[in-house]
Amino acid sequence: MKINRKRWITLFLLTACLTALLSGCKAGQKTVVGAAGESLVAGKGKENAAETTAPEANATVAPSSGEKVKAIALTFDDGPDTGDTKATNDILDALEKNGVKATFFVVGQAAAEWFPTSGAKAMKRAVSLGCEIGTHTYSHENLNKASDEVIAEEVEKGCKVIEDITGQKVKLMRPPYGNANENVLSKIDLPMIQWDVDTLDWDTKDADKTVENIMNSVKPGSIVLMHDIYGQTAEAVDQVIPKLLDEGYQLVTVSELFELYGKDLEGHQQYYSAR
Ligand SMILES: [Zn+2]
Repeated sequence: MKINRKRWITLFLLTACLTALLSGCKAGQKTVVGAAGESLVAGKGKENAAETTAPEANATVAPSSGEKVKAIALTFDDGPDTGDTKATNDILDALEKNGVKATFFVVGQAAAEWFPTSGAKAMKRAVSLGCEIGTHTYSHENLNKASDEVIAEEVEKGCKVIEDITGQKVKLMRPPYGNANENVLSKIDLPMIQWDVDTLDWDTKDADKTVENIMNSVKPGSIVLMHDIYGQTAEAVDQVIPKLLDEGYQLVTVSELFELYGKDLEGHQQYYSAR
């Protein structure tokens, strides 16, 4: 009985060792696979880390489906206005308070002649808040009625004022009155940014109506037209931003909006929304 028991114990121990050895090999294999898997994951992690090092770039990466994006661009024409209405600075206050961005289509003359110091300061502040600045020509010309020489001069001078102040190349244009006929389009190698939501702020000069017009018409991908020369517009912006954020909208620049929707902006073309 004692011998049998010893044999059983020996057999048991041998089996146990063999099992341990085999499972050890499997465990070893698992470790190797695991290590390889981990190194792959780590590799991906590094790629992701590289992609996310620039938060600006990451914020504008287009998802696979444009339908999931809920973003719009607020745009302001005719400024900078740092006079009695303080419209441009009040709008910048509202943007900064809510951590959102907008696009300003600047009249070169307003920046260079009417508000050369305070206007330039407001434009630099806009850029520092991540806002975008495009041209609205130098002297708000109706380009459909202008000669080719005037068209070229208005765009060139308008862009130069902005570039001298901000140090950034102008990439977008909004033609005054939204007027860009075939001849104008053929002459100007900038994307013409129109709008699909007209707040009529210039007409009503009423903050509540401006807010109402935005909330009734805005859709994902919208470009909203306003003017940073009215105090009522600044009031409307202060009221409407929280409402838009509550509805889940991201408020981005025009360039960011088109990036989010995976659409290119090209010169000689007009754009009404990013949809
Ligand atoms: Zn205008």
